[in-house]
Amino acid sequence: MKTQCLSANLPETAKIAANIIKNGGLVAIPTETVYGLGANGLDEAAVAKIFEAKGRPQDNPLILHICGPEQIELFCHHIPQKAYDLAEAFWPGPLTMVLPARSNVPKRTTGGLSTVAVRCPDHDAAREIIRLAGVPIAAPSANISGKPSTTTAQHVLHDHDGKIELVVDGGPSRVGVESTIVDLTEERPRLLRPGGITPEQLLAVLGDLVVDKAVTAQIDKDEVVKAPGMKYRHYAPQSQVVIVSGSREKAARYIRDHFEPGDRVLCFDEELPLYEGCAPLSYGREADVNTLSAGLFAALRELDDPKIHQVYARCPVGGGVAYAVQNRLKKAAAFHIVDAEEEV
Ligand code: AMP
Ligand code: MG
Repeated sequence: MKTQCLSANLPETAKIAANIIKNGGLVAIPTETVYGLGANGLDEAAVAKIFEAKGRPQDNPLILHICGPEQIELFCHHIPQKAYDLAEAFWPGPLTMVLPARSNVPKRTTGGLSTVAVRCPDHDAAREIIRLAGVPIAAPSANISGKPSTTTAQHVLHDHDGKIELVVDGGPSRVGVESTIVDLTEERPRLLRPGGITPEQLLAVLGDLVVDKAVTAQIDKDEVVKAPGMKYRHYAPQSQVVIVSGSREKAARYIRDHFEPGDRVLCFDEELPLYEGCAPLSYGREADVNTLSAGLFAALRELDDPKIHQVYARCPVGGGVAYAVQNRLKKAAAFHIVDAEEEV
């Protein structure tokens, strides 16, 4: 199959993409979080193609992308007022809600669950394609399963050239990490994955929030969890990643002491001068965490090279969007963290 790549700015692109979706094909779609690999979320055969292209485990559910809050009722039932409050506050935007699924949503889309995840993306091209297709678009991140997510059309082509019909190029993803996921099916709202909408923002609307274990700890692959995707190896380059925490100076001393030829350092712009001769790669400015979320996956992809043995990574501290960056980086490092403050 020849994979076409069309700019989202061309007038015909959305219509061409929507037609492929309607006909049961796959289209990579730009969103503000990451690029998604999209198919008609109500068509089992089309959804099956997503799992096949990504090599995604069958029990890892997909997110249904919709045009707006008015579409929630088409695919969900027993919708609490909290869902409408969140939609009002954060949609379109990087927030996914898990709600009880209607029977029109296939089990393939929900990974066999009785709940479904829904989101309205903050990207004009994405919403236009959903609108023209006339169906919700099921779309996980467009990377090969387990690999760093896709934040540009080039990343998608790298992973799927020849396997999908179309990539819609809408430029680099603005947020750069996947959506925040909040489960609203229990009495208390539960954060399943941090993202561009921060825990602080959620709390301001909900007044209550439980953080799921999958956010902060490594989940065993046989464990039954609320966020099925979170138990799998994620975001990881081929090399070993270790996070080095602690002050700038102590971390630099630890890394420089342990660095061997063929290793790499993943750090902030501000730290580049400290790692001369250690092949440093910056993923953004520590002073502006949005540049770190936007740059993280492209950097992890650059470090996805079998010749690299060890990557020493610096991670931002604190809440807000930094919380999402920490979550992705810790998963990429399989929770391998060294505290430079405790090392001599
Ligand atoms: P991705 O789109 O690849 O970033 O993955 C979507 C993630 O959303 C999955 O890996 C799950 O963790 C989560 N998810 C989707 N649907 C549900 C659901 N019904 N219940 C809980 N988590 C879900
Ligand atoms: Mg993903």
